[in-house]
Amino acid sequence: MKCNYIGDAWVGSSNASRNLNPSDLNDVVGEYAAADATQAADAISAAYGAFSGWSLSTPQQRFDALDFVGSELLARKAELGDLLAREEGKILPEAIAEVARAGQIFKFFAGEALRIQGERLASVRSGVDVEITREPVGVIAIITPWNFPIAIPAWKIAPALAYGNCVVFKPAEPVPGSAWALAEILSRSGLPAGVFNLVMGRGSEVGQALLNDRRVAAVSFTGSAATGMRVAQACAARMARFQLEMGGKNPLVILDDADLKVAVDIAVQGSFFSTGQRCTASSRIIVTDAIHDRFVKATVTAMARLRVGDARAAGTDIGPVADAGQLEQDLTYIDVAQREGATVAFGGTLLHREAPGLYLQPTLLTNATNAMRSSREEIFGPVASVIRVRDYDQALAVANDTDFGLTAGICTTSLKHAMHFKRNAQAGMVMVNVPTAGVDYHVPFGGRKGSSFGPREQGRHAQEFYTVVKTAYTSA
Ligand code: NAD
Repeated sequence: MKCNYIGDAWVGSSNASRNLNPSDLNDVVGEYAAADATQAADAISAAYGAFSGWSLSTPQQRFDALDFVGSELLARKAELGDLLAREEGKILPEAIAEVARAGQIFKFFAGEALRIQGERLASVRSGVDVEITREPVGVIAIITPWNFPIAIPAWKIAPALAYGNCVVFKPAEPVPGSAWALAEILSRSGLPAGVFNLVMGRGSEVGQALLNDRRVAAVSFTGSAATGMRVAQACAARMARFQLEMGGKNPLVILDDADLKVAVDIAVQGSFFSTGQRCTASSRIIVTDAIHDRFVKATVTAMARLRVGDARAAGTDIGPVADAGQLEQDLTYIDVAQREGATVAFGGTLLHREAPGLYLQPTLLTNATNAMRSSREEIFGPVASVIRVRDYDQALAVANDTDFGLTAGICTTSLKHAMHFKRNAQAGMVMVNVPTAGVDYHVPFGGRKGSSFGPREQGRHAQEFYTVVKTAYTSA
């Protein structure tokens, strides 16, 4: 059994969880100790105890630890990518790229640790200096979802440590393997005992214990909107800092003047790659009249070429759905959409492969309206709806008519429309002629409205969440 990491010890538990390979449910990936609320409290104690020392650590110490982790992730990307593909179900090239990205993120924040800056201003009073500095926040609880089992933990853990905080990390239940592998590397990175801790286990028990403990100064959460609301309420009740990244219902607008081939590629990649299980996936494809029929026909043709199968088999384009509960949710929405009047233009059914896996055909729904539940609620699977509109103005209105605001994309060759869309799309990230999913690791990531709350993640902007500002006045 793989254990939790608390203080500098690997700690077992009487309860274990087994994670299954969604490409082959007969394949048990591993057994992982399930922590309980007491072990969560122990991890917080360890982190709390380590904070006074780590908060004063030098930039060089932080650089060395983060750079070590980054280098090892990059060196082991093939091996860890295989584990990730096996437990989460994204295809091997995507999984390897995710591990590499996690490595790059650690390297980026290793550099940031050397570049923590302050400001010095002239005071309005003579003989007084004013300095503005950034200090670490304290113990940070990091709670993550299953769909990016190593990149999301990386983009929270790396800045937390770079800016001098201590971490208690709780990964999502279906993907303890990638989390454990990352923790194991961190355990050898030279961090003092207690600076980083891993507690695997149920959200309702371990996660909730982290939210309620007054020694946890801040919570960085990525996951569903429903859990995000719980995080917000628990943190607000005790005035803890929190940051939420939640769902999306991302629009991709295709205008008459789009390059059809580019538009189809972007729609297929954005909607169905990673089995559509990306918060940034295109789920509402909003298409103007004159290109609509050609776009649907070409997209269906492209979808028919996608090979759905074992995530680790050569040639697979789309892996399985990550777990049984998610598959049920996908099928329910496909059914609901049809009852509401949408048409399944492609897909919609389960696929059977040699091994028992959670295989769903990528699904394109046409004749959809923006009022349908399938257009308003996050599905989080390989399912996208095509909504037909008159013109650009209507497309923009439909794109913005949503409770979410993570990414918004447009395919057009019109500079005028591209510029207008960039300015007026109500989303944290706007994509012109690139897929709604797929972002750089050195620039801010986050959304608006129901998709996000709090400062941005990633890039230099991450310091807003992971530091507190101090203003000091000095007179000699
Ligand atoms: P989830 O909300 O079910 O779980 C997320 C995490 O919260 C897990 O670690 C879970 O154990 C924990 N949790 C559950 N209940 C808790 C509680 N009461 N207290 C504390 N923690 C608790 O989400 P999921 O199913 O793992 O992930 C899918 C969701 O994540 C989708 O909605 C997706 O859009 C979202 N997501 C968002 C982004 C983004 O950056 N916006 C990125 C990836 C995924």
